[in-house]
Amino acid sequence: MEYKSLSGEVKIPALGIGTWGMGGEFSKDYSSDKKDIFALKTAISLGMTHIDTAELYAGGHCEELVGEAIKNFDREKISITTKVWENHLKYDALIQAAKRSLKRMKIEYIDLYLIHWPNPNVSLKETIRAMDFLVDQGVVRFSGVSNFSLSLLKEAQGYSKNKIVANQVEYNLLERAPEKELLPYCQEKDIMLVAYKPLARGELAKPGYKLLDFLTKKYKKSLAQISLNWLISKPKVVVIPKASTIAHLEDNLGAVGWRLEKEDLRKLDKNFTP
Ligand code: NAP
Repeated sequence: MEYKSLSGEVKIPALGIGTWGMGGEFSKDYSSDKKDIFALKTAISLGMTHIDTAELYAGGHCEELVGEAIKNFDREKISITTKVWENHLKYDALIQAAKRSLKRMKIEYIDLYLIHWPNPNVSLKETIRAMDFLVDQGVVRFSGVSNFSLSLLKEAQGYSKNKIVANQVEYNLLERAPEKELLPYCQEKDIMLVAYKPLARGELAKPGYKLLDFLTKKYKKSLAQISLNWLISKPKVVVIPKASTIAHLEDNLGAVGWRLEKEDLRKLDKNFTP
């Protein structure tokens, strides 16, 4: 596994694991529990020790699955990101939401707690004050945000006593918006850009993009491996592809430990045409 430094304090794997859809989508669905727990345990065993979940996912059941999957691993070696939903951004509501997440995952602390989406109806200052409280109490190790524009990220930084260490946003070969101003800012300020939907929900693992198809042949790597390697090659970017089959997990693992050549990275940067 390759690691990247989170705020110069801890290392997290460049390749983590996403969980959207595990345990259901917006409500609880227990039908795939065994398969999902097995996938998560396998991911951890393969070194994907950064697990991304959220209180929203499967009405909380996804966090329960994460708790079940990690219970026999060394907690210190696992980084758990979870996110507070936009209806719990007031001071007391956020603190209670974090406590419920802890309970569902049967853990003592959250490694990285993110504001899932900004909510213009709640004072960001108040939300950040609650995040600071959780960090001060040791309930949360690091605080961060998700789906924040550069201006909102800066606003959050202005209110926060503790460092905002990450912004989780959609970023992949087809979605380049973060490159304009967010990524350069994160790189300059040592903020991790956690790329969600790094495979564009599986779209980038399907043939049909000429340059990607060409590179798979040149490097003898899969489409997913090329797509993820391009992201990981960028400073301050880590990825959290969701995979629930062992074949996909093993395939994604092949995205780390090597680098596309500079010229090919440049081609993907400039000439990748959806
Ligand atoms: P994604 O990771 O881009 O794609 C997941 C899809 O790709 C799944 O259908 C998966 O199939 C498939 N896949 C995985 N590896 C593959 C491979 N090697 N070859 C072919 N297909 C492969 O999309 P995502 O799940 O939406 O995003 C990743 C994570 O980011 C989420 O799970 C969630 O934790 C987080 N997220 C956060 C936000 C936010 O607002 N902060 C929004 C969206 C997502 P199988 O499941 O069948 O293996």
